Amino acid sequence: MWSTIGQDHLLKQLDAGLLAGRLAHAYLLSGPPHVGKMTLALDLAAAVNCAVLGGKQVGSMFGEPDDARGPCGNCDPCARIRRGVFADLKIVAVGGDPRVATRISIDQVREAESFLAVTPVEGSWKVVIFDGAETLSAGQSEPANALLKTLEEPPPQVLVLLLTTNEDAILPTIRSRCRHLSLRPMPGDALYGCLASRPGVGSDTARRLARLARGCPGWALRALEDPGLLEAYREQLAQIASLSSSPLDVRFNYANSLAGSFSGDREAVRQELYLWERWWRDVLLIKEGLAERVHNDDWRDELATQANASETADIVTFLESVRETLGALDANVNPRLALECMMLAVPASVA
Ligand SMILES: [Zn+2]
Repeated sequence: MWSTIGQDHLLKQLDAGLLAGRLAHAYLLSGPPHVGKMTLALDLAAAVNCAVLGGKQVGSMFGEPDDARGPCGNCDPCARIRRGVFADLKIVAVGGDPRVATRISIDQVREAESFLAVTPVEGSWKVVIFDGAETLSAGQSEPANALLKTLEEPPPQVLVLLLTTNEDAILPTIRSRCRHLSLRPMPGDALYGCLASRPGVGSDTARRLARLARGCPGWALRALEDPGLLEAYREQLAQIASLSSSPLDVRFNYANSLAGSFSGDREAVRQELYLWERWWRDVLLIKEGLAERVHNDDWRDELATQANASETADIVTFLESVRETLGALDANVNPRLALECMMLAVPASVA
């Protein structure tokens, strides 16, 4: 069974490829945070190493493509991959090199290359997952170029999976050597159904989380397990609501402190920017008379106040500025400068 949910369009394609023994050696998995990129990557790592599915491939004569349902999930390789203790799987993440906190370093790519050069010891395929692949070419060319060499002449039985929230930041030379899997946010109804079907989850909770998660099941499932996540989310929104009507010096102080945490936790800063984007997207929806579509439903009064006080054009400009800032952070520009520019673009209240 695939663990991935809400991506049936991709799973169908992968099932067919697995049964026919026709997988690409490199995939680019793109989509918003928590949409399920890592889950699908681990699913794929399990699928190529699964003892049961491997048998099916060999004997595909007696299996119709519809029989395929991804890795079995129970055999030894499947179980070990899900536990993250499989010798032929390597996950390369941003910050994995303590000397380079905000991107994947050349040394990490070289280590991955050496790992791939050795034949599998535990399963039948070597798999490397690059999480945060957009940083491979951030202000540097060596890591991307080194990876390019592997993609051009891949060793046999090797699977390279690049995960990114920003496919535009992946070099075209790398992109063109990968098969692209674009993960889509799940429709709200489908996510609601998936959450509500879990034991002990009431329909109100399922509805609220499905709305807040914006189609990203990873976030909703984490929030179910950890109620602290919802509280932290509420606090962050309260801060954004307050900063949105604060004087520039207060917003600059905030930009400064956020920039200071970038080298320690790049992903947390990105997440905070997504919250800014969501907040002002909701303000824009209210401004345009589409209040029923806002995600932060609990904040409707605050959103409406800001909608009344802001001009549509300014909100649109700010939303563009948030996108640019996310791109600039991926490109490794000075985070403080980028965040200050974003703070300058916060829509001014109309007196
Ligand atoms: Zn298995």
